[in-house]
Amino acid sequence: MHERRERLAAFMEAEVYPNERALAREDDAAEALMRELQGKAKAARLWAMFIGPDAGGTGTGFLPYVYLNEVIGRSLVAPRVFGCQAPDTGNAEILHEFGTPEQKARWLRPLVAAEIRSFFAMTEPEVSGADPRGLRARAERSGDDWVINAHKWFSSGAEGAAFAIVMAVTDPDAPPHERLSQIIVPADTPGLEIVRAIPTLGHRGRGWNTHCEVRFTNVRVPIANTLGRPGDGFRIAQKRLGPGRIHHVMRWLGQMQRAFDLMCDRALTREAFGSALADKQTIQNWIADSAAEIQACRLLTLQAAHRLDEGDEARVEISLVKFYAARVLHDVIDRAIQVHGALGLTDETPLSAMYLVARGMRLVDGPDEVHRMVVSRDILRSYRAGRAWEFL
Ligand SMILES: Cc1cc2nc3c(=O)[nH]c(=O)nc-3n(C[C@H](O)[C@H](O)[C@H](O)COP(=O)(O)OP(=O)(O)OC[C@H]3O[C@@H](n4cnc5c(N)ncnc54)[C@H](O)[C@@H]3O)c2cc1C
Repeated sequence: MHERRERLAAFMEAEVYPNERALAREDDAAEALMRELQGKAKAARLWAMFIGPDAGGTGTGFLPYVYLNEVIGRSLVAPRVFGCQAPDTGNAEILHEFGTPEQKARWLRPLVAAEIRSFFAMTEPEVSGADPRGLRARAERSGDDWVINAHKWFSSGAEGAAFAIVMAVTDPDAPPHERLSQIIVPADTPGLEIVRAIPTLGHRGRGWNTHCEVRFTNVRVPIANTLGRPGDGFRIAQKRLGPGRIHHVMRWLGQMQRAFDLMCDRALTREAFGSALADKQTIQNWIADSAAEIQACRLLTLQAAHRLDEGDEARVEISLVKFYAARVLHDVIDRAIQVHGALGLTDETPLSAMYLVARGMRLVDGPDEVHRMVVSRDILRSYRAGRAWEFL
């Protein structure tokens, strides 16, 4: 693992950081460069480290992946270079776990190889995304097909994707957690319309870097496109979101660390009022607080990853680090910008782009408030049953 982390860090130095600005332009030249770097990452066996070789990746579990994904996370353009970009990662994981051999051959293999992209259509503008029990999307049986009608938004990466995994109600009369199914829909199916890419804080790009509004109007796909069994949608979503959240946090560790590095370097080299910024106590406090908070996030992440590798859902551990790390991510980048003065707001450093993206992380895959609710609910359940909560 150490050897791999070192090779990965060397790859970042040689291939990613020097090309960061060119890749962020998202034009045709950037796409060609991305393809070239992806080829190099595959050749270096640094490809799709989130998933095992049986699915076309080079992964070996959550815990080793923390140390690798943290390095990847340092650059916002790097996840694509190494074949571990959300939402394709989450879609690959559920295809891997719940897909039939046919579904895997058609969608999983090319997805992990980055020959195609995908999107996950759960959130709807009309109802709370935090509480998917209220989703309105409908899929009705018609012979051997589903007929889907839905209005979705924040479908990340929908523009140019080859297929969607759609969450829709298939049995409105079932108990709330058994009403939904996840259905694979090829993007060229008649009735599927990408209405628009919604300009969003930190995401005003194209293709993979979009959050889209999508309509499904009488979209017809075979029942065989169901992931798992009808009614499994909620359960599969839970399976998808846990690892998805911890993957986010791993990458945030890299973002935090990069902001921290920049903050320390700037504090040492910039002088004001007769001494380096590093000599001012306020700046020293920011550095100390950031160091403590980043390391707390890292240890919480490692613990959650360890629990996942042991086969535990790690629901409390993941929710805990998800809301805490999203706040730390924001605060560390914010302090780093402040230490840079006006320079911190420019595009001369990566901090301004990092800051914009960081704000959305308090919402993506569940708002902070919902994760706090999950943590306190499970802890209180334990106390209600007469058991103290043990932090292992
Ligand atoms: C960058 C980004 C990418 C995304 N990508 C995707 C994607 O690919 N596919 C997809 O389907 N969705 C995606 N989403 C949507 C995301 O999952 C939802 O935004 C999220 O689940 C919240 O749903 P909502 O926006 O409808 O907010 P709502 O559910 O309306 O919640 C609004 C606010 O209400 C408050 N709130 C809600 N519940 C509680 C509670 N129990 N206690 C206290 N306060 C509460 C919170 O402050 C919350 O922020 C993405 C979002 C972002 C920001």
